[in-house]
Amino acid sequence: MTTEYQYDLVVVGGGPAGSSAAYEASKNGIRVALLEKEETIAQSVRTSGVTWIQNIKEFGIPDDCYNPIKNYTFCSPNNEITIKDKIPQAAVLDVRKTYRWLAEQAKNQGVDIFLKTNIKNVIKNKDGDIVGVTGTNKEEEVIFHAKIIVDASGFSSTISRAMGFVSQWKRFGVGAEYEMKAEHVDKDTWYLMVGQKYSPAGYAWIFPVGKNIVRIGVGVGKPESSVDPTEKLNELIKSKIGPIKKLGKITPIEFHYGLIPNDGLSRKTVYNNLILVGDSAGQANPLVLEGIRYAIKFGRIAGKISADAIKSGKTDELALSPYEKNWKKAIESKIKSAGKIQDRWIGLSDEQWDEELNIIKELKPNEFLDFIKADFGLIDMIKMATRHPKLVVRQLFSLVKTKNN
Ligand SMILES: Cc1cc2nc3c(=O)[nH]c(=O)nc-3n(C[C@H](O)[C@H](O)[C@H](O)COP(=O)(O)OP(=O)(O)OC[C@H]3O[C@@H](n4cnc5c(N)ncnc54)[C@H](O)[C@@H]3O)c2cc1C
Repeated sequence: MTTEYQYDLVVVGGGPAGSSAAYEASKNGIRVALLEKEETIAQSVRTSGVTWIQNIKEFGIPDDCYNPIKNYTFCSPNNEITIKDKIPQAAVLDVRKTYRWLAEQAKNQGVDIFLKTNIKNVIKNKDGDIVGVTGTNKEEEVIFHAKIIVDASGFSSTISRAMGFVSQWKRFGVGAEYEMKAEHVDKDTWYLMVGQKYSPAGYAWIFPVGKNIVRIGVGVGKPESSVDPTEKLNELIKSKIGPIKKLGKITPIEFHYGLIPNDGLSRKTVYNNLILVGDSAGQANPLVLEGIRYAIKFGRIAGKISADAIKSGKTDELALSPYEKNWKKAIESKIKSAGKIQDRWIGLSDEQWDEELNIIKELKPNEFLDFIKADFGLIDMIKMATRHPKLVVRQLFSLVKTKNN
């Protein structure tokens, strides 16, 4: 049996990008369906969930969805530095609670959420433009017709691939992580661990989720390294090296695994009747591969622009282009700057990492946060390179600024 549905907007993927796009579109008066292949929203967790309190407040995410962080420790093979802030500015999300809150917001706004709905293909009109999607809901075939489709399917970019617009990401990060019960957790402090023994072409982390719970993970850049992050993670946990030792007895609760694009802003994100958002659009900060805040922010913009386009009766690429202009203006120069730092970091030896940490130590908490968040464009980088009171910081930014220019 096949069931057919007709909506103004169909959003494929119930992650942060999809829920946010659906919410904002429905709020702006159109009929929206949100399609998610898993049995529940955030059934699988594929992220470490670090984000920033300023963004959490801006999005209205409730306070019980995160653990605040105010100390930022970096470990290299022979060095450890901590930048201490007076107030927490970073946060480790309760990922399930947050993603379900985002979907609940959409539902309360009138969005129809279809779970266990795996979208596999697209429907095109005679001009080759997308006008719907097809797949299965449980065992049943389903067809969704819509004026605009939002591809929020994450790394797999199912819709854009089915349209033939994109192929598999060439450069990406792979991460493996355990959520663990731990004996001694400093819930104010995160650890980033760099250098060969932690991760070749990437980093390892300890992110406290609460009083007795941490996420310990390893991320590896592909194709730069062939290392399997799960094997590396098991090795680190078994040998309890570096700051893992400080946690005392640790017991796994849950395993997380995921992929994140790292191809820069290489994709076009609007076509006739189609918008790409979140990981399917490659909207992630390449330095630490964080994309949740961009997924929510640009998801909402995609939802608003879709609703406006549908109400105006024009849903072609030109009508949707303000979306691409908007997000590019917000982050393109920042992502480029972050890409330059990432290129530098990928090439560092263990000894150079030990030195790099001595430079990072000279950054004030807000400078460090802007740096790690990639909240600086070329102009800020020039300022850091010419006016920073610390010589080593000026040297670092001069090197990065000139690289690839
Ligand atoms: C190991 C790792 C750690 C990370 N850590 C951080 C971090 O600390 N902070 C941060 O900000 N970002 C982090 N990220 C990145 C962050 O997870 C992503 O940028 C973010 O989740 C993107 O949101 P999204 O909604 O675009 O995609 P996703 O969160 O991937 O959501 C896509 C949704 O679409 C659904 N879906 C896929 N295909 C279909 C289909 N065919 N039919 C129906 N539904 C479908 C999926 O089930 C999923 O629910 C990390 C990523 C990885 C891999």
